[in-house]
Parts: sequence; structure tokens; C-alpha cells
Amino acid sequence: MRLSIQMTHRTTSETGIAPTAAPFPTVSPDEVEFVQSTIIDWFATAERPLPWRDPATTAWAVLVSEIMSQQTPVSRVEPRWRAWMAKWPTPADLAAAPTAEVLHSWDRLGYPRRALRLQEAARVIAEDLDNRVPTTAAELEALPGIGSYTAAAVASFAHGQRTTVLDTNVRRVLVRVFAGRDRPTTSPSRRETQWAEQFVPAVGHVRWNAGVMEFGALVCTARNPNCDGCPLAEVCAWNRSGRPASAVRPKTQKWAGTDRQLRGAIMDVLKARHEETLDEAESDRLDGVPFDLLTASTTDLDEDMVESLGTVTSAKLRTMRDLSADAERISRLAADLVADGLAARHGDRLSLPR
Ligand code: SF4
Repeated sequence: MRLSIQMTHRTTSETGIAPTAAPFPTVSPDEVEFVQSTIIDWFATAERPLPWRDPATTAWAVLVSEIMSQQTPVSRVEPRWRAWMAKWPTPADLAAAPTAEVLHSWDRLGYPRRALRLQEAARVIAEDLDNRVPTTAAELEALPGIGSYTAAAVASFAHGQRTTVLDTNVRRVLVRVFAGRDRPTTSPSRRETQWAEQFVPAVGHVRWNAGVMEFGALVCTARNPNCDGCPLAEVCAWNRSGRPASAVRPKTQKWAGTDRQLRGAIMDVLKARHEETLDEAESDRLDGVPFDLLTASTTDLDEDMVESLGTVTSAKLRTMRDLSADAERISRLAADLVADGLAARHGDRLSLPR
């Protein structure tokens, strides 16, 4: 079948810029079916063998993979997911783990509050749900830290439920192919979610959900879509209209020099200290890092005390202080970490939470 999906909204061809508030167009059943079958066929040949796609993978392992994959590339997630699942194969295992160990194992996945929320969800599953991951999206969304996307994904990939999985990759593919726009808005509206439901087939919905997500990750990428090699090139509304640039450019998140970068560097110091003291007596293990060392001005730094922290910890401390030696700023960010549950203050020392 060869179809051309027509854009039903007006384009500004004079400027080459597509309207940004375009509606979600009506799509014919034939068009929907063609795109569904094309994506599912493509996925059969292009699917990456990710470990959480193994049919033997537990629902808990799928849930962990989805939390880890939020705003984090699969290549960074996979080794950490393997280590995590080896250490905590069930919700009860994670629920019983020391929070400091959970944060340390989260390693450099970023956004470490996800680790805390995952442990909270594990506790609910272990204590209230007999260690079983819920099957429906509504039940999953009731867990701590589980949003509508993650709930739909786990219900689909772990339990075979027919849900509409709508992450950024999926949304980008749908708006390009069917609405002729470069990129979706920041977050999906109720209207967009309802519009996207029509593309989920009654049969093969899990393969569609996984396939269209993979297609957005590998072919119809945000910055460099492979339109020349794309099996949807001839029907894609955005490609057919000359790929007009969006009027709204995506916000690029600055990293260097931000509080977020410095928070991460403080966390790196605490994680290194945690690791280097794992073999010490329990009373010493949680002693953390002297607060004065984190906030001291360069001239006040007690080199002997820095070295006594351990090789990796002292190196991380120097890296953090290269970013900033502003005592007031570091104190403020440390207080934020404590308030967020990512660090704990014990007298004059700061550590990962117990
Ligand atoms: S033609 Fe280009 S924009 Fe359209 S679906 Fe294919 S890769 Fe994406």
C-alpha cells in the first residue's frame, strides 16, 4: 500500500516554518494501519537485544529499566541495570537495602532522586503488594515516583496490557509522520494523549509500543533523522513538506557552572567516601566528610585531613572545589541535598543517608 499522509493544517511555506500550535489531524484507518505495520515490520529486523526485553525478565526488572532510562541513554543504563538487578533482584531486596548503598549504586546515572523514589516504590510493593509489581497502569501510577509514561510502559512491556506509551521518541515520530511538525511540545496534553491512542493496534500493541519507541531512538532521532533510509519517508507529512524547522527551538540545559553540576560533585565526594570506608568498622563507615573541608577556602584547606579521607575521596573533593570554593554556595547546596534525602548531616560531617 502506498499512501500519502496529508497535513490538514496550513503550513507557512513562504518562511519554511511550520505552525507550532497545529492541531492533531484526523488520520484515516488505512494510514494508521500502514504506519503500524511498517513500524512493527521494521522493529522485527532492527530491535536491539536489550536485556530487559528478554521474555524471562521480571516485571520488577522492567520497572527498574524504565526508571533508569528516563533522560538517560540506554548505553549508560545497561551496565548499571545489570549490576543493580544482580544486587537487588526483587522489590524486597531493594526495600531492605541501606539508602547510602542505593545512592552509591545509582552511580552516574544522574537525577539521583530517582533512586530514592525507586526504593520508596520497592517498599510499597514489598510491604503492601506481596512483592508483586502491579499490572495495570492505574495501579502502577499510584506508586511513588511512577508517572503516566512509566506506568503505561511497565503495564505494556511487563504485563502485555494495551496501553498508550508516549515518551519523547514516540511523540516525535507521531507528530512528524501524522502532523507534519518537527517536534512535540514539552509535555503531552490530554488531547495529544487521546489522539495517540488511535495508533496503538488491538493486536500487536506491545510490539508497536516498543517498536515506535525504538524507531524514534534509532531512525527518527531529534537532531539527525535518517529520512533518506526511512521506510516511512514517502508517507511522512513532515518529510513530504520539506522538513520545516520548528518555530520554537528546544531549550538546551546548561550544565557547566550550574548548581546542578556542583550538587553532583558534592554527591561524588560523599559516594567516594562511602565506597572507601565500606571495609571499615560500622561506626566509621558513616562518618562522611568533615563539613569544614567541603566549605573551606583554598588557603584554609588542611592537606593532611584531605589526604586522610582516602585517595579517591580526596581527588573528588579537589574536583568539587575546582568548580567552586564558595562556602556559602556549597553550604546551601549541601542543605538542599539533606532536604532532598540525598545526604545526611551528622554533627560537623556530611555523608550519604543511612
Ligand atoms: S521520514 Fe524522517 S521525519 Fe519522517 S518518520 Fe522517517 S525519519 Fe522520521
